[in-house]
Amino acid sequence: MITLFDKLYKKSEQDLLDDLYNRLQKQEKTFVVTANPEVFMHSMHNEVLKKALLDPKTVVTPDGEGIVQAAKMLGFTPWGKIAGVDTVAKLLQHANEKQLSIYIYGSKQEVLDALQKKLQVQYPNLVLVGLKNGYTYQEKEVFEDMLQKQPDIVLVALGVPKQELSIYQYFPSFQKGIFVGVGGSLDVLSGVKKRAPKIWISCKLEWLYRLLKEPTRIKRFYNNHIKFILYIKKLAKEKK
Ligand code: UDP
Repeated sequence: MITLFDKLYKKSEQDLLDDLYNRLQKQEKTFVVTANPEVFMHSMHNEVLKKALLDPKTVVTPDGEGIVQAAKMLGFTPWGKIAGVDTVAKLLQHANEKQLSIYIYGSKQEVLDALQKKLQVQYPNLVLVGLKNGYTYQEKEVFEDMLQKQPDIVLVALGVPKQELSIYQYFPSFQKGIFVGVGGSLDVLSGVKKRAPKIWISCKLEWLYRLLKEPTRIKRFYNNHIKFILYIKKLAKEKK
């Protein structure tokens, strides 16, 4: 677990964006994992996921207050939370400015339909080369199609850790591209789901808002976030 925190991106959000834009310009293949406690917890039992996170071509960003606080408890100094949904929004904006190609895989069809309409209005210069939902399409056929199109940016929304494992499996076949596991970001960016109001975000309570909106997440929250906090406390104690 400590190695993952060591790997965690500790610079500012703007540094991250500049870094990603630079990689896009150089066509440097990159995998972005927007990590929350759930990703780190899964990696404790999943060697492939851990390998994916520690791969030199992978950038692991702190997508959540839980990861930031844990990093601090372990003696690291992260700049702060970098919400995955914000990173994705900025990448879309950048793609529009530079007329880059985007492939989107995952989420429900209704979410993709709403998102496509938004993209056409907000980012008319972005080149959408693929839009496949995460329920009726087979992973293999989607990645084969993606390979032919060689997009500049690939957004995969299949949930943790499926999206990370899928990207990591097919990543070696690609020549270029920024690949991002985006979780529920497309649900929010499409307007189908609402993000927490700004006051909740500034009070660092976005996680609580999400939990109240979707109480069915409580078991998942306990299994990942609560166990994560207890584990980090133990690690921090051992480190002293
Ligand atoms: N999803 C999907 N296929 C699946 C399972 C999930 O396309 O088989 C999508 C789901 O519709 C959602 C995204 O994956 O858009 C991830 O959702 P979740 O809310 O779990 O994300 P997170 O909590 O990681 O942000």
